[in-house]
Amino acid sequence: MEHPSGNGTEAAASAAAAEVVDLVSRLIRFDTTNTGEPETTMGEREAAEWVAAQLEDAGFATTYVESGGPGRGNVFARLEGAAPERGALLLHGHLDVVPAEAADWQVHPFSGAVQDGYVWGRGAVDMKDMVGMMLALARQYKRAGVVPPRDIVFAFLADEEAGSTFGAQWLVEHRPDLFDGVTEAVGEVGGFSLTVPSRAGGDRRLYLVETAEKGLCWMRLTARARPGHGSFLHADNAVTALAAAVARLGAHEFPLVVTESVAEFLAAVSSETGFDLDPGADDITGRLDKLGSIARIVGATLRDTANPTMLAAGYKANVIPQTAQAVVDCRILPGRRAAFEAELDEILGPDIEREWITSLDSYETTFDGDLVDAMNAAILAHDPQGRTVPYMLSGGTDAKALATLGIRCFGFAPLQLPPELDFAALFHGVDERVPVDALRFGTRVLDHFLRHS
Ligand SMILES: [Zn+2]
Repeated sequence: MEHPSGNGTEAAASAAAAEVVDLVSRLIRFDTTNTGEPETTMGEREAAEWVAAQLEDAGFATTYVESGGPGRGNVFARLEGAAPERGALLLHGHLDVVPAEAADWQVHPFSGAVQDGYVWGRGAVDMKDMVGMMLALARQYKRAGVVPPRDIVFAFLADEEAGSTFGAQWLVEHRPDLFDGVTEAVGEVGGFSLTVPSRAGGDRRLYLVETAEKGLCWMRLTARARPGHGSFLHADNAVTALAAAVARLGAHEFPLVVTESVAEFLAAVSSETGFDLDPGADDITGRLDKLGSIARIVGATLRDTANPTMLAAGYKANVIPQTAQAVVDCRILPGRRAAFEAELDEILGPDIEREWITSLDSYETTFDGDLVDAMNAAILAHDPQGRTVPYMLSGGTDAKALATLGIRCFGFAPLQLPPELDFAALFHGVDERVPVDALRFGTRVLDHFLRHS
C-alpha cells in the first residue's frame, strides 16, 4: 500500500545512495574508540556534533544530549509523518567503535579509505554503515519534503560498545522523553544477506532480521581463603579453589534450548537448503558449519554460554593470597535466567562468591506484523530473489535498553553482501570494511522500508 509521502521520493533515494559512501567514510575518520573506560573514551562528542551539523544543514532541529559523562554525545532528530497517532518508528545507530590496532591493518583503521569497492575502517560494519544510511536518508527526506507514513525518530548514540551505560541505558533511565511516542525500533546486526545453496540448485539469498538477543551478564567470581607462606603445607588456597571452579564452568555445556526465533531460523534455512538442521539432532552444532561463519553466532543461540575471560590473584611468588578473582562472560537465552543461575551455583559450589558486574536481560519479539511486512516488501522490491528470516543474536545491542521502555525492537540494517565475504569476522575484526554496493543497496531498501512502514 502506498502512503502519502510527498514528491520526489525516488529522487531522494537516489541522492541518498549517492551520498552514503562519503558519509560513512567521513564517520569512520572520527576516532570514536570506546576503551570501556570513560577517562580514555574520546571522539563521541566530535562525531555527534558533526552528525548534528549534517542534519541541521538539511533543515532539522536537533537535540544534543550527553549521557552520564562529559563528551558522551548523543543526537536526536524527529521527522514528522502523516499519521503521528500510529506511533513513531525509532532508527538508532551508535557512534562509538571498539579499539583497532593500526599495525595489524592493510589500511589505517581511521582512514575511511574507499578502495577496491569497499569503505575501510573501524566501524564500517559496526555500525557507521547504518549511521551513514540513516543520515543520508534523513538529509534527503528533509530537503525533498518527504512526509513518511509515521513519525521517524533518528537517534545517534554513545557507548554501545561498553554495554550502553553512558549511552542508551542512561538515556532510557534519565531522558525517556526523547523516546516519546516511539512504539517500534530498528537498529543493528540484522538485514544483512547470507547466501546459502538452494535445494532447487543455485544459490538463495536470505536476509537475517534480528528478532531476539541473548542476555548479557558479566560475572565476577571470588574465592577467599587463608593467606600464608608459599613454602608451607597449605591445603586452603584461594587460587587453587578459584582455578578449579573456573575450569569446571569453562568446560560445562548448558542444555540445548530452542527458542521461537531460533526454531524459525532453522526451519527456514532447512526448507531453503534441504540441510537437516533439526535442533534435536546430536550433532546440530556440526551441521550448522555448512552455513559458514554465521554458524558461530547461530550455534551460540542454542544454549546459554559462560566463557571465563579474566583472572586475577596474588602479588608475590612466595605469598599465598587471601583472594582470587575471575570474570566470566555469561550469555543467557530468553526465559533461562533462573535456571541458569541455579545451574551456576551447582557448578561453582558454596565456597565461590559470585556477583553480576553487568546484567542486561535477553530480548525476544515475534516475526510478524506490519513492520515485518514492510521489511519483507522492501527486500523483495530490491532483491526479488531474497527472503527475510528471523534470527537471534548471541551478543547485545542498544535494543536491550530500548526494550525496557516497551519498544519493540528489530535489527534491520540492510546490506546485500558478496557470498564469499566472511561478514561475521568483520565485526570487531581486522580490516573491517563494507562493500560500496552494499551501502547503496541498503540505502534504497531502507528508503523503501521507511516510506511503507
Ligand atoms: Zn554495534
